[in-house]
Amino acid sequence: MKKLTLALAAATLAAGAQAYPDKPITIVVPFAAGGPTDKVARDFAEALRKPLNNATVVIENVGGAGGTLGANKVAKAAPDGYTLLLYHVGMATSPSLYRNLPYKTLDDFEYLGLINEVPMTLVGRPTLPANNYAELVKWLEANKGKINLANAGLGAASHLCGLMFQQAMKMDMQTVPYKGTAPAMTDLIGGQVDIMCDQTTNTTSQIESGKIKAYAVTSTKHLTTPALAKLPTLDEAGLKGFNVTIWHGLYAPKGTPKAVLDQLNAALRTALKDPEFVKREEALGAVVVTDGRLAPAEHKKFVAAEIDKLGGAIKAAGQYAD
Ligand code: ASP
Repeated sequence: MKKLTLALAAATLAAGAQAYPDKPITIVVPFAAGGPTDKVARDFAEALRKPLNNATVVIENVGGAGGTLGANKVAKAAPDGYTLLLYHVGMATSPSLYRNLPYKTLDDFEYLGLINEVPMTLVGRPTLPANNYAELVKWLEANKGKINLANAGLGAASHLCGLMFQQAMKMDMQTVPYKGTAPAMTDLIGGQVDIMCDQTTNTTSQIESGKIKAYAVTSTKHLTTPALAKLPTLDEAGLKGFNVTIWHGLYAPKGTPKAVLDQLNAALRTALKDPEFVKREEALGAVVVTDGRLAPAEHKKFVAAEIDKLGGAIKAAGQYAD
């Protein structure tokens, strides 16, 4: 046995290949620290370390432009498995929103598998007079033209959800973009902005502690997390067909060696079964992916379908950036 191990080690060295990973891996989170994508990424990084021989996995927050600045950084990074991207539905909204996206979403990345799906909640500043969804609708009607809606920039999940909400309500609101919904949440708690649509991974604890008001869930199913269980879905509250559930996936720069991609996909699959990770996700209202979209080819097919699906709604709203 020992002889075999030594022979294998010698063969590896002879081929000039170091075992992967032999230095820290960076996961770029294209939003501010402390926000929902960052929270998912930090928990996921912890779970990903173990199947990668306890490698160091560090998070780098590169917020701005709805996540496209961070995505671009990874698209241009060395394809060696040491720079990865954890991005959400923005991967699929940005091709329709940005006229000059500096990378090609389907060509410039290796797809490594989907991680989770996360519903969103419609929340408001604590000083908002409305205490439930019906009261919120009245307040919105009465304050038309004066409402501030926070988001994490064009292409972010909060932008998509806010866009769909404005369309469904047939109302234009003043959007206030941030580098992520962590800083947006600080301003919502402080009363500088009125409402926001954000992932349950960011809103649950703030709702629990009464720091913000919660009005509705954006997916079509009721949530089971205690703080969110009594919220109506927007669909049943009057916006028939409203359904926004977002997802996160893992990506590497195009050209990363196949052996490294296989190792990362296997590590992702193991990480998503990590009981600690699953427990954390459940507590925040997120659902860990267990279906075929764990396979890179299926993940890519899913993103391509999302680009088509979401592109229609975005084009109808006529919102673009250069
Ligand atoms: N919640 C943000 C968004 O709207 C992402 C983030 O800040 O992590 O997409």
